[in-house]
Amino acid sequence: MSPFDLTGKVALVTGGNGGIGLGMARGLATAGAAIMVAGRNADKSKAAAAELAKFGVRTATFEGDVAKADTAKAMVAATVDKLGALNILVANAGINVRKPPQDYTPAEWQSVLDTNLNGPFFCAQAAYPHMKAAGGGKIITIGSMTSIFGLPFAPAYSSTKGGIVQMTRALATAWAADNIQVNSVLPGWIDTDLTKAARTQVAGLHERVLARTPAARWGEPGDFGGIAVFLSSAASDFVTGTAIPVDGGYSVAG
Ligand code: NDP
Repeated sequence: MSPFDLTGKVALVTGGNGGIGLGMARGLATAGAAIMVAGRNADKSKAAAAELAKFGVRTATFEGDVAKADTAKAMVAATVDKLGALNILVANAGINVRKPPQDYTPAEWQSVLDTNLNGPFFCAQAAYPHMKAAGGGKIITIGSMTSIFGLPFAPAYSSTKGGIVQMTRALATAWAADNIQVNSVLPGWIDTDLTKAARTQVAGLHERVLARTPAARWGEPGDFGGIAVFLSSAASDFVTGTAIPVDGGYSVAG
């Protein structure tokens, strides 16, 4: 059997209805995993689930906000209820508020922290008892180039993406004895709804990314299927607490 095979596994992908989350969900479905697509927009989630079902896997959807601890718990419970297990959590949902630090309102600051840092923690915490009972599991968190570098127009986002790498290391050490591997993926600049907005708000961004990225292109959601399968499968059973850039070389360019 292939070490990348996910037949019989169940994955919950938050923000799996678009962008990087959907790119990861497509990879997981191709490898045989059933997918719970979770997001706030039910129509978008249903459309994504219908697309994923074409890979011949079971799918379900959950409408909710990861930033709320009770909702994260309900999301996990619905996954187990509808798909029978929870083996893989991709805590991918994220937002950004682009403005200089001095212009942030407390509510804007809080909303980014709630979604990008509290959300993945609440989801991981809710997933833990199910994974432990199953004898193991895989958790993937999503960092960013701002886990490494600062961005002048993204102070809250950068704070959460730095924090999520440390949270990943903490969870990895806490749960390694339960055979739960926790790893982070650090995307470079990827063409999604999130960055479409950035390109209109940040002058010259498109060209700067092309010039700085050795692969000389923006990433696509399809660039994340492979890493999702690797970090969700037996192929990565001795890999935990890492933060792996998927960035076309952006983070190593001098
Ligand atoms: P998109 O905006 O395309 O997708 C974000 C997804 O998250 C949507 O599916 C959205 O669905 C969901 N979402 C947002 N907030 C919530 C919430 N509170 N509760 C539940 N679901 C939510 O963004 P990307 O695909 O680009 O981003 C995905 C992840 O990758 C994020 O964590 C982002 O920070 C990270 N990232 C992205 C980069 C890029 O260049 N694009 C670079 C580095 C990191 P809905 O609207 O239905 O809730």
